[in-house]
Amino acid sequence: MIEVKHLTKRYGDKQAVNDISFKVEKGEILGFLGPNGAGKSTTMNMLTGYISSTSGQILINGTDILEEPIKAKASIGYLPEIPPLYVDMTVDGYLGFVYDLKKCKLPRKAHLNDVCALCQLSNVRNRLIRNLSKGYKQRVGLAQALINNPPVLILDEPTVGLDPNQIIEIRTLIKKLGKSHTVILSSHILPEIQAVCDRIIIINKGVVAADGTADEIAKNITNEHKMTLRIEGDTHTAADKDKIVSAIRKIDGVKYVRADMEREKGIYDYDVEAEEKVDIRRALNQMCRENNWNILMLQLSDLTLEDIFLRITSSDIQVPRSDESSAPVIDLNVNEKGELVATEKQNGGQE
Ligand code: ADP
Ligand code: MG
Repeated sequence: MIEVKHLTKRYGDKQAVNDISFKVEKGEILGFLGPNGAGKSTTMNMLTGYISSTSGQILINGTDILEEPIKAKASIGYLPEIPPLYVDMTVDGYLGFVYDLKKCKLPRKAHLNDVCALCQLSNVRNRLIRNLSKGYKQRVGLAQALINNPPVLILDEPTVGLDPNQIIEIRTLIKKLGKSHTVILSSHILPEIQAVCDRIIIINKGVVAADGTADEIAKNITNEHKMTLRIEGDTHTAADKDKIVSAIRKIDGVKYVRADMEREKGIYDYDVEAEEKVDIRRALNQMCRENNWNILMLQLSDLTLEDIFLRITSSDIQVPRSDESSAPVIDLNVNEKGELVATEKQNGGQE
């Protein structure tokens, strides 16, 4: 359906996209995940023929976007990062305008009705776009992309700036559209990609850092057998710490143990790492019972997509999928909203 080969874009000497290749099959929902500045919008602008590439090739349904732009573009509905809305038009006026612009041949009234119903715009069709909420404006942006029923939808950060309810609405709509369309969607919000996409391409500094399902990506990164425990000792003083640490250290399979912060009065957390494929939870429990200590919390540090993302994007080079080396120190963080906050380490790299 979509084939991208060695796509590169330079702005002057700035390499925004560097030799990206991937394929998207019919009916897939593909997520482009990457921090700001990764090259997502640049890639999408090239995919849609909005800007040209410096080198490389894009085939939409076998048609080269630069050689036969009109034919290729007819297959694509595009919602750019900033939706191209004319805010002084009514929803109906604007969608009618887009209908004409796209030289749509579908029965006008019925098609506009369908698109408005799908995007839940039927009750605001006579309103000026200017007066709509952000969520509604975004739905008008989606509706515009859907006119002429293109089989491919390209959506650049479609939920940016929306409130949580609006985000859920748009996500649900995208999922629904994914049943009948090939969708490429970009986001720097990890749970979003997880919630909506079948497949994920992680893009960082203009290169593909990983390509696969979330599970596949997870499988290819070694899983550490790490956990955090909160254990209540018998004296509720710092003296418990040393006793507990040495008792944990004696358990078979424990590779590493360290007392962490005091989390409740006189009660500490302990970071524990076991040998690979060794489950020490029962032994830990047993040991605590014998000492009259209580486990108040046990949290396995499973790799989430966030961890995967941080590991992959923290590396300057493209990480082979089977890379098992430990990741360098990173300054990328995910805030409580699940957005990626990238503060890159100054290690001599440009930018
Ligand atoms: P993303 O959408 O992932 O946030 P972009 O594709 O917008 O990233 O940008 C990728 C890189 O290219 C950024 O470093 C950005 O500053 C740069 N860039 C984007 N557009 C231009 C432009 N028109 N001229 C120069 N540099 C640009
Ligand atoms: Mg962007």
